[in-house]
Amino acid sequence: MAFEYAPAPESRDVVDIKPSYGLFINGEFAEGSGTPFKTINPASEEKLAEIATATSDDVDRAVQAARKAFGVWSALPGSERAKYIFRIARIIQERARELAVLESLDNGKPIRESRDVDVPLVAAHFFYYAGWADKLEHAGFGRRTTDGHSGAKPLGVAGQVIPWNFPLLMLAWKIAPALACGNTVVLKPAETTPLTALLFAEICQQADLPPGVVNIVTGAGETGAAVVAHPDVNKVAFTGSTEVGRIIARTVAGTDKKLTLELGGKAANIVFEDAAVDQAVEGIVNGIFFNQGHVCCAGSRLLVQESVQDELLAALKRRLGTLRLGDPLDKNTDIGAINSAEQLAKIREMSEIGDSEGAERWSPPCDLPEKGFWFPPTVFTGVAQSHRIAREEIFGPVLSVLTFRTPAEAVEKANNTPYGLSAGVWTEKGSRILWMADRLRAGVVWANTFNKFDPTSPFGGYKESGYGREGGLAGLEAYLDV
Ligand code: NAP
Ligand code: MG
Repeated sequence: MAFEYAPAPESRDVVDIKPSYGLFINGEFAEGSGTPFKTINPASEEKLAEIATATSDDVDRAVQAARKAFGVWSALPGSERAKYIFRIARIIQERARELAVLESLDNGKPIRESRDVDVPLVAAHFFYYAGWADKLEHAGFGRRTTDGHSGAKPLGVAGQVIPWNFPLLMLAWKIAPALACGNTVVLKPAETTPLTALLFAEICQQADLPPGVVNIVTGAGETGAAVVAHPDVNKVAFTGSTEVGRIIARTVAGTDKKLTLELGGKAANIVFEDAAVDQAVEGIVNGIFFNQGHVCCAGSRLLVQESVQDELLAALKRRLGTLRLGDPLDKNTDIGAINSAEQLAKIREMSEIGDSEGAERWSPPCDLPEKGFWFPPTVFTGVAQSHRIAREEIFGPVLSVLTFRTPAEAVEKANNTPYGLSAGVWTEKGSRILWMADRLRAGVVWANTFNKFDPTSPFGGYKESGYGREGGLAGLEAYLDV
């Protein structure tokens, strides 16, 4: 970890952060009835803004606005809805720099990631789903009826609750398909990262989106619970922890609400002895240290074939020694801040459990800034399948290394998890990739790459990683009555 070279950081002046923000209901910013909270920059602990808290009454106003707007929005021809969604996509591109800086300030992620990965993907999702809005009857979800309407109907008001790890991208995954299908939305961002959702609300105003089509309600878990429980919400979409996912599934059970859940993961990144070592090392680094490991599909379990373990780990450690940890707005930063004090405490606790269970901890020499929440890139070797660091999601820059001898053993170990969101396979043999992909119980299997996202690919999990798919054609189905 080197700090000797300090290029000019991306300027935070490109974004105008207001001292306080209200709720976005019916196309306007309105006061919340609850006690406001502050959002901070996790890299400095500096307060960024005061944010309104929506009570259940405020959530009710937002749902009513969305219900009223549903009449207007769902009646528009798909080609007209598409124009609005395309306009939103273009404004996102125009304001990309502002969005990226704000995301990095509020979340702690490196500007290189928010600028080069998150925001371009956000725009891509809006472009992709805008393209479907007038083609739903061709998407295979029902024939055109005699009165000329598509057979597939929107569900109504979608209540959407998202986490803090990809605040704007998760918003795009939820809002773009919902709007394309003719639904209206009430979305609750995570308490620690509300700012880009509120800037998105301004973008909706700028795009002249009809009032009430998108509503943003800020607050803590209680606000999310009020959205999920509201009787006039027809569809609930949630991304976050398995624990809260279970609570939401219980709330929705017995109602006619449709539900999609995108929960945690403990993905295996599997490296065979014939893999190109340098490429595999890049894939391992990207798999677990991208976004400080705050990634549900992170490659948090490295399964390496025993015969190449020493060579691979030596190369990995050399590479980790070159990563730069520090100011998220610095264009050369690889590892930013941990999103919150709570998450940092959780990562520390899980790492201490790794120590006490007998795994061996390694980090490159690394000076952590004094202020803010930081954790060095960390590798645990000598990890057994029974260890908690091999079974539970850490959601931080911590890699657990296990070994295998045969492909069958790799499959068995990879699938030995309550989760099933993603997996990676590194090998030169195409036949082995297909053999593995057939046997891995994971929603996404990457081959010789990792953490690659595209709006055309469905994403989602098996088992405790949740159900339903987001992205691609499957992502439309989640917002249609088929
Ligand atoms: P979380 O509690 O599940 O939060 C996700 C979202 O749900 C947030 O907007 C949260 O609001 C809201 N929420 C909390 N309680 C709720 C309830 N009872 N009803 C409805 N909504 C509710 O996740 P977290 O506490 O931020 O993170 C905890 C762990 O979850 C992480 O360590 C990680 O393992 C996992 N996680 C997974 C993903 C993923 O992408 N699959 C993302 C984030 C976290 P507040 O923000 O105000 O709490
Ligand atoms: Mg924040």
